[in-house]
Amino acid sequence: MRIEQALEEASKCAFCGFCEFACPTYRALRVRHMGPRGRVTIARLLDGRLTSTAAASIMTCLACGACEARCPLGLKIASILRAAKARVTALLAGTT
Ligand code: SF4
Ligand code: SF4
Repeated sequence: MRIEQALEEASKCAFCGFCEFACPTYRALRVRHMGPRGRVTIARLLDGRLTSTAAASIMTCLACGACEARCPLGLKIASILRAAKARVTALLAGTT
């Protein structure tokens, strides 16, 4: 998924949180930015100013897709986050 598509998909998130407890990193750490709802929100806000918290949030997604089965809107969360990882990698490398 291209980043433009990912941002469009992420913009549909209703912040309901139904996805969170399916996420292994959220269950382990219990902080919003280490779960799918937080990651999707951070993906929506990615711009040229990348904080270490935002980078860690996106880059620690396991891309397992467990969250997707819980999303009532059927958002392709893992695909959104794969695109966000590519964006974060480019930002860290200074190539964007
Ligand atoms: S794809 Fe990422 S956000 Fe979704 S459940 Fe797996 S680790 Fe969590
Ligand atoms: S379940 Fe779907 S709509 Fe709800 S917070 Fe998670 S990604 Fe957003």
